[in-house]
Amino acid sequence: MISKDVQENLKNASWIRKMFVEGAKLRELHGDENVYDFSLGNPYFEPPKEVLDKLKEVVNSQEPGSHRYMDNAGYKDVRQKVANSVNKGIEKPITGDHVLMTVGAAGGINVVLRTILDFGQEVVIIAPYFAEYIFYIKNHNGVPIIVKANEKTFEPDLDAFEKSITEKTRAIIINSPNNPTGIIYSATLLEKMADIIERKEAQFGHAIYLISDEPYKALVYDGMNVPNVHKIFKHSIIVNSYSKSLGLAGERIGYIAVNSKIEDTALLMSGLAFSNRTLGFVNAPALWQKVTADAIDITVDIEEYKARRDLLFNHLEKIGFEMVKPNGAFYIFPKALCEDDVAFVMEAKKHNILLVPGSGFGFPGYFRLSYCVDMSMIERSLPAFTKLVESYRK
Ligand code: PLP
Repeated sequence: MISKDVQENLKNASWIRKMFVEGAKLRELHGDENVYDFSLGNPYFEPPKEVLDKLKEVVNSQEPGSHRYMDNAGYKDVRQKVANSVNKGIEKPITGDHVLMTVGAAGGINVVLRTILDFGQEVVIIAPYFAEYIFYIKNHNGVPIIVKANEKTFEPDLDAFEKSITEKTRAIIINSPNNPTGIIYSATLLEKMADIIERKEAQFGHAIYLISDEPYKALVYDGMNVPNVHKIFKHSIIVNSYSKSLGLAGERIGYIAVNSKIEDTALLMSGLAFSNRTLGFVNAPALWQKVTADAIDITVDIEEYKARRDLLFNHLEKIGFEMVKPNGAFYIFPKALCEDDVAFVMEAKKHNILLVPGSGFGFPGYFRLSYCVDMSMIERSLPAFTKLVESYRK
């Protein structure tokens, strides 16, 4: 027997999972070369050489005690290095005492929500959203409140955002660069959101946390800059990981870095350490804390991702798709060619193209393409996209 809740959730397998199964079927029928799979967000590039060299060095060092438990927050020296990196461009620096090493960003978000949420408190998220947020919030007895982004910009509609914040709101999750749209929130937008939050905090008399989920922070193009949320918000909590920036998604390593402007950071940090322990993570992987500590500002080759974005985006634009040009992450989120995004994705499948419908991100009428794929697959897929568009023009 399994719980009714999990049974219910299993009935609605995620779209990404469904597409994974469809992809396997199509490859068997048509061969690898003839299937164009844009459905997965699994980092494509191998970790940079410096990271793999450091891994060997750490493994070979055979330092006694390297494989033991440590402080639930992680190694002190590693946390200080993370703090130094987060501090770039902020006037009120954080220290290693404001950092907790986590099992990826997913682990980090769960640790934060477990620590801050009382039963029935609300967490605002912006649609289109990373679908797992809904489950993470419910894991900790929270209630997701969804605010729709503006279709022209994919930025949150600020009136709707303001209305969504109630006495029960404990936190807001933002994700920039964004999955699934690839857009980056500007400092101006974030400042407007911060004003709204501060007004609501004053109205309701309690802190509202801004959880900034940033696993794509290093993957930005066109000279764009991702603003430091600690500079703009007072009650911000950064959650980041090395899954995408260093291609280490399977190794499960990331961190939480809390704003030093938060009133009782010592209490918050103790709470986070408690949650890290009692959710069963105990501490982030020891080996990977040491490996990533010296690679915080290294990334996979961003130009390679940019080349993929340009090739795909330019072709889709040329054949008539409506899109917001993404400046970060590795996704594009175009408008579907018919109202029903699921029907559109099924039509694309007839051309051996695998996509994820916007409905899977709480935003019907659109679809997500992930370009962390082989360049030659993008090249081979372009005529199939053209045929797909033609099939709607008949
Ligand atoms: N947040 C977003 C927006 C993501 O896209 C992902 C992974 O795809 C995660 C969090 C989880 O990342 P991690 O592998 O660091 O747990």
